[in-house]
Amino acid sequence: MGWNQERFTRILAEVQTYKAKLIAVSKLQSIESIGFAYESGQRDFGENYVQELLSKHTQLPTDINWHFIGHLQSNKVKYIVPFVSLIHGVDSEKLLAEISKQGKKISRTIPCLLQVHIASEETKFGLDETELDTLIQNMKEHPERFSFVALRGLMGMASFTEDNNLILSEFKKLKSLFEKYAGIPGFTELSMGMSADYRFALQEGSTMVRIGSMLFGSRA
Ligand SMILES: *Cc1c(COP(=O)(O)O)cnc(C)c1O
Repeated sequence: MGWNQERFTRILAEVQTYKAKLIAVSKLQSIESIGFAYESGQRDFGENYVQELLSKHTQLPTDINWHFIGHLQSNKVKYIVPFVSLIHGVDSEKLLAEISKQGKKISRTIPCLLQVHIASEETKFGLDETELDTLIQNMKEHPERFSFVALRGLMGMASFTEDNNLILSEFKKLKSLFEKYAGIPGFTELSMGMSADYRFALQEGSTMVRIGSMLFGSRA
């Protein structure tokens, strides 16, 4: 199973109703499938792995906006800063400082989202509320350490569960944190919602949904 044109058209219309952006999550999908999506007009794609992103970036058209949505290791930042559109999963001060350092080397300001841990599961990455507060405070106090990152908002992943109320409450939590920092200039993006839960995320105010398997089919 590959790219599903009919589902794409339907999901895109739904996302646009909420004035949100559709990120097509293309990790582990073929160049051919991404090509079909591109032909349909899709320009924002999400990838989780640095090597795979670099390879796809060189093979595909230059007007694609590449979103890095995976867990990023500090030592790999330098490979993606020249072209990445938005890094969604920034979950430590060390990583944010490294992104700024690498951005500075090439005089490019890198748009970033901070990842917040909202799920009840232990496994997912992200800052807790206190760590988020501390990081944002430290950015204010030491702007010189972060001068080549543009903080654009927050990202989170809800629990993988059938319990819709739990998912909704986790998205509400993230939305309330997003509103708490809405005074920061340029802080406008709330990246939440995947194939299984994007409708809930849109209802709760997501500005970007990251949808993979619903568009492309299951991953290799
Ligand atoms: C893989 C992934 C997605 C897309 O997941 P689907 O369930 O295939 O829609 C979204 N966000 C992140 C962070 C991911 O790793």
